[in-house]
Amino acid sequence: MDFLRLVETCEKVAKNTKKSKKIEILSHFLKTLEESEIPVAVLFITGSIFPEAESKSLDVGWKTIEKVGRDHQKTLLTTPLSILDIGDYFKKISSQRGEGSRKKKENLLQSLISRASPLERKYIFKSIFGEMRIGVSEGTMLEAISKASYLNLDLLRKALMFLGDLGEVARIALVEGKKGLEKINITLFIPIKPMLAEMANSLEEALQEHRKCALEFKYDGARIQIHKKGEKVVIFSRRLTNVTESLPEIVELSKSIKTKEVIAEGEIIAIDKSGRPFPFQYLMKRFKRVHDIERLKKSIPLKLYLFDILFVDGMSLVDETYEKRWKLLEEICPKDLLASRIITKDLKEARAFMGESIKSGHEGLMIKDLDSKYIPGKRGKKWLKVKTSVTLDAVIIAAEWGHGRRKEWLSNYHLAVRDEETGEFMMIGKTFKGLNDKEFQWMTQELLKLKIAESEFIITVKPKIIVEVAFSEIQRSPHYSSGFALRFARITRIREDLSIEDVDTLERVRNLYENQFKYKAKFL
Ligand code: AMP
Repeated sequence: MDFLRLVETCEKVAKNTKKSKKIEILSHFLKTLEESEIPVAVLFITGSIFPEAESKSLDVGWKTIEKVGRDHQKTLLTTPLSILDIGDYFKKISSQRGEGSRKKKENLLQSLISRASPLERKYIFKSIFGEMRIGVSEGTMLEAISKASYLNLDLLRKALMFLGDLGEVARIALVEGKKGLEKINITLFIPIKPMLAEMANSLEEALQEHRKCALEFKYDGARIQIHKKGEKVVIFSRRLTNVTESLPEIVELSKSIKTKEVIAEGEIIAIDKSGRPFPFQYLMKRFKRVHDIERLKKSIPLKLYLFDILFVDGMSLVDETYEKRWKLLEEICPKDLLASRIITKDLKEARAFMGESIKSGHEGLMIKDLDSKYIPGKRGKKWLKVKTSVTLDAVIIAAEWGHGRRKEWLSNYHLAVRDEETGEFMMIGKTFKGLNDKEFQWMTQELLKLKIAESEFIITVKPKIIVEVAFSEIQRSPHYSSGFALRFARITRIREDLSIEDVDTLERVRNLYENQFKYKAKFL
């Protein structure tokens, strides 16, 4: 099918603001696609170029895009671009490596753009910048796939959790149907999206949420998923990237798990000689490195705390209760690898345990429902986190050049949260607080790579860098697109371990805003 048909559909979807209408248009369009076109089209419409699980990117800089956009000439008499051409171009651009790859990427992009009509060009650039803005979130697309395939939405969601690839889920649903989807399950050496926690308002409230709950230390580190079969161990990060090479000592530790096959989850933290946790930033150094590991192993030693198990010897455990999963974990893992935990509903005991966690340098507590299944990719109330301060994970969408000493740095950051309905990022405040000089430099360098547009003082960037932000209060604000503003916002850390889907939602901001009035008067 011609690519033009796809971008015309995008235009139609963008113009119809009603979600039901968007779903109808998309479902109709999906039914007209050939099997091989489905993954490319679905990913394109939802604003991604490659499936999340592949952690691939085009890796073309702003300068290249600007140059191609400026110099392009439409070649006359070319064959129209097809949907498959787009997939091929993107794959080729992303796979260029090493010397001369910049130029090759530029040539490929040039060739693609020269074959595109103005409308196609508009959408290719939108896609490269990660700025589709047609109001189709992953959830909307799932509904459209459900409508087109007459398959249950929950079945589709589950398949997506295990596969982590919306395009492939759409292909299986539309071509293989229910039988194909039902075959998708947890598989060794294919990472699944981790189950996530919601922030609780207080320890007291969290304790009342579940019939029976476990309280565990919340370690201030990085989530890992260990896949082991005999001597073969592969470790995935929270973003499903293979990080095995950076963590040789964790590979060795994993071999001490008694069963032949296992998929287990845990947190790793960096510790000093006395066993106290290092700040998160040190740990990230270990995660990104594949060279000089032996030296780093000594200067930044790691400690593993396991807290879940999803698969044992050919058997999926995701539908078992947490109580059962933990029991198994205890049976097959050395005790010193397990997260610290107690079982209680008593507030006094819980407070004492929270104190212990904080005193040991950790972040707070996780309160987990012992009756709950493992729900991949889901942030919900089955797991609650209790921290000493409330923070938001926001994404940087623009940045301003600094003044005086900070003149050379992009130092005032525009923060945004995700509108869960449309998938768009809505501004919620600005901050220049919280980073040190080195981090300002790093941030400037990274943001410049993501530049989409610029004016004298501000550059607009592709939403990619996520930061954890502390604040004193949330206020209503007519100035920002979210309708809210963070008062005294301060970056508490750069969250390189999170992906764009993890950015906090407008709904969470609304809830936090309302919650403030439990303790404060509301000015109506
Ligand atoms: P957050 O990143 O703030 O959404 O908090 C959830 C994260 O806390 C998880 O993804 C884990 O990386 C981390 N974590 C630390 N300790 C635990 C624990 N005992 N159980 C589950 N997650 C934990």
